Amino acid sequence: MENYQIDTKCVQAGYRPGNGEPRQIPIIQSTTFKYDTSEEMGKLFDLEESGYFYTRLQNPTNDYVAAKIAALEGGTAGMLTSSGQAANFFALFNICEAGSHIVSSASIYGGTFNLISVTMAKMGIEATFVSPDCTEEELNAAFRPETRAVFGETIANPALTVLDIEKFARAAHDHGVPLIVDNTFPTPVHCRPIEFGADIVTHSTTKYMDGHGAGVGGAIVDSGRFDWMAHADSYPGLTTPDESYHGIIYAEKFGKEGAFITKCTSQLMRDLGCIQSPQNAFLLNLGLESLHVRMARHASNGLAIAEYLSGHPKAAHVSYPHLKEDPYYDLAMKYMPEGGCGVVSFEIEGGRPAAEAFMSRLRLAAIETHVADARTCCLNPATSTHRQMSDEQLKAAGIPAGLIRISCGLEAAEDIIADLQQALV
Ligand SMILES: *Cc1c(COP(=O)(O)O)cnc(C)c1O
Repeated sequence: MENYQIDTKCVQAGYRPGNGEPRQIPIIQSTTFKYDTSEEMGKLFDLEESGYFYTRLQNPTNDYVAAKIAALEGGTAGMLTSSGQAANFFALFNICEAGSHIVSSASIYGGTFNLISVTMAKMGIEATFVSPDCTEEELNAAFRPETRAVFGETIANPALTVLDIEKFARAAHDHGVPLIVDNTFPTPVHCRPIEFGADIVTHSTTKYMDGHGAGVGGAIVDSGRFDWMAHADSYPGLTTPDESYHGIIYAEKFGKEGAFITKCTSQLMRDLGCIQSPQNAFLLNLGLESLHVRMARHASNGLAIAEYLSGHPKAAHVSYPHLKEDPYYDLAMKYMPEGGCGVVSFEIEGGRPAAEAFMSRLRLAAIETHVADARTCCLNPATSTHRQMSDEQLKAAGIPAGLIRISCGLEAAEDIIADLQQALV
């Protein structure tokens, strides 16, 4: 599959049936797997052979789909998780422990911000948040001797900032640390962070990859490039014996290409069990089969709606990285020359009451907290997800009361525009 275009990989990578086998990925709806001898099963528990024994750790359906996502991102190994939250937690916790420190872009998904700044802090893992627009000096100053990972989002949800992946990768590598990039919004169809130096890529597959609002899920892909052994003191979990598997050393036994995902599966999935159900993995694969076709439409609809809004007198501060006047336009063109995603935000003139009236007039676009599926949806944080905050608090948080986020679906752009036009009276 390696030499095929990404469109072909979306359709066919990950699963190649043999003679007489099912054309579509089979759903292996089984918690356990049967063996003839204890010795054969024992080899799996010793990580001497690869295979399946319990779906809390691994399932063939999931692995077909994870292999497709790894192929799309250009990585060497991948795994599915039960959600995007689990993917980001596992990616970080696989190389961090109490006493470790993370450098993260401050412009990230709210759920991930809470995960790092509240829940992981309780585990003794500290973080320093930096502006995605910081200088190299400011970025380098955020590192500590205990820093073990750098984190950012290609296009941030919901701020729609673009990460300068090369700048963050350079700083990470200068400090002997991998860069983890959450690539949920552009998907590998529009950006492959590994090509720009990212070491590990994560996804909320709940968004465009599934694409139909059908199943919550996540994915982790390893580039296979980070040399754990060269930084052995920083990553003892990968470079010293794991006594729970008879003293194997992941980085030695599975190499740069396999160590990260094997450890993540055999330790974190074993102990925490946030696996995606095989049913959801099957649905996710249906979404992936058309990802390249859908992303082109999401991006062209996003741009058309952003251009329409930027000419509308009632809409201020339109954010869309591929809009020429957007502050992230140059970075968007560098990392995503073919387009971004379908999420656009703007500030309606008239603040909270105007936003509330606008939302209630929408006919085609639904009010949802979700983004990135086939149906256009809108959210006004001030009257929904952030309604406990005053206008002043919202302003301080960078979320004006009149902010509206639109996730452009796959409908005809003129119908979405007509809906916005009648609601923006
Ligand atoms: C939604 C989202 C997440 C969290 O994913 P879930 O599947 O909802 O757990 C993480 N990162 C980004 C960029 C997201 O948009």
